[in-house]
Amino acid sequence: MKKIIKNRFIIQGIIGLIVYVFLFVLNISLIWILLAGIITGIFVGKAFCRWICPIGFIMEILFSKKDDKSKQLYMYYKAGCPIALINGILNKYSLFKIKRDKDSCKKCGKCDNVCYIASLNNEYSLYKENKKEPSLDFKCSRCLECIKECPTNSLKLEI
Ligand code: SF4
Ligand code: SF4
Repeated sequence: MKKIIKNRFIIQGIIGLIVYVFLFVLNISLIWILLAGIITGIFVGKAFCRWICPIGFIMEILFSKKDDKSKQLYMYYKAGCPIALINGILNKYSLFKIKRDKDSCKKCGKCDNVCYIASLNNEYSLYKENKKEPSLDFKCSRCLECIKECPTNSLKLEI
């Protein structure tokens, strides 16, 4: 799983290119892409933005610098996209969610450090009690960096 997450950007580039070909070379209706996007949302929430979307791929190149302003831009860049809108809401209800094994978690905080929601707003945390859960938030785009960084494999995407 961590290997797949590590290569997410390449995977998104390849899938994004396929989506582009479907849309603009084969002239497949945008409705089918919307439907496919929403179906992914039912399963995994807003993953479409960071794993499939060709526009998301380009936006990540433009806005994924490390400074806070870029992160803020990056968080909200999809505000006008219907797939991002619906799937952001579905983050709370999707079949697969990011779950933490409390027993193995060492509370090192590495997950929060890489999460663009928790690192910018201390009301959120993936491991601290009594904080808002970033992976259930509208803004989580299932980058899965939190899972990749966890040294104890305490975070998993599961039912
Ligand atoms: S990175 Fe893993 S071990 Fe560290 S706080 Fe987060 S869930 Fe716990
Ligand atoms: S997948 Fe994890 S690291 Fe990425 S935004 Fe969601 S909670 Fe944060």
